[in-house]
Amino acid sequence: MTNKTSLYHKLIGILTNTYPDNTTTMLNSKTHFELLIAVMLSAQSTDRQVNKITARLFERYYKPQHFARLQPEQLEPLIKGCGLYKNKSRNIIKTSQILINKHNSRVPSSLEELVKLPGVGRKTANVVLNIAFGQPTMPVDTHVSRVTRRLGLAYGATPEQIEKELLDIVPPEQRGDFHHRIIEHGRTICRARKPLCQNCVFTDFCSHYKN
Ligand code: SF4
Repeated sequence: MTNKTSLYHKLIGILTNTYPDNTTTMLNSKTHFELLIAVMLSAQSTDRQVNKITARLFERYYKPQHFARLQPEQLEPLIKGCGLYKNKSRNIIKTSQILINKHNSRVPSSLEELVKLPGVGRKTANVVLNIAFGQPTMPVDTHVSRVTRRLGLAYGATPEQIEKELLDIVPPEQRGDFHHRIIEHGRTICRARKPLCQNCVFTDFCSHYKN
């Protein structure tokens, strides 16, 4: 067992006990398509903001056909509460058109096809694959990058390198829950600026804290 694997086994029980309910996305959606749109909207925005927006948006627009016929200027005011809403508006419309033309209006279930969609990066694709299709992916966002590096579970300089390191140590059936719990820890305790180490359950194991 490598040092990182052994560290993972020490941390996972504490993580699970500390965040027992944080096992899925906080983003609201009823279909794979709605999930894709919600995850696209969530970049640089909080889940709460996105849920507020999609609660109204998905009442009128919930299929690729609904978005594909819009002009970006028509969608922008509906998603304006999100960061980067102008780019997101263009990407959602283009993605909807591609889903209709190339994927029979369905969300593809492969990383290769998902990352070809405008506005869908590796992290977004991995979240959709994990939640919608139950695939054992390891989505790495800013919280997962920061917290796992601080804890000493990963050292990579890029999200893709960190993803590979975590895939080696996190068993497939634990990846989704691990991802959501680490995000919660990053949002509430291990914040980017001024982590609340005095309130953290990982001080005995954390490389960042020890250093
Ligand atoms: S001890 Fe501090 S740096 Fe380490 S995981 Fe906890 S909050 Fe983050």
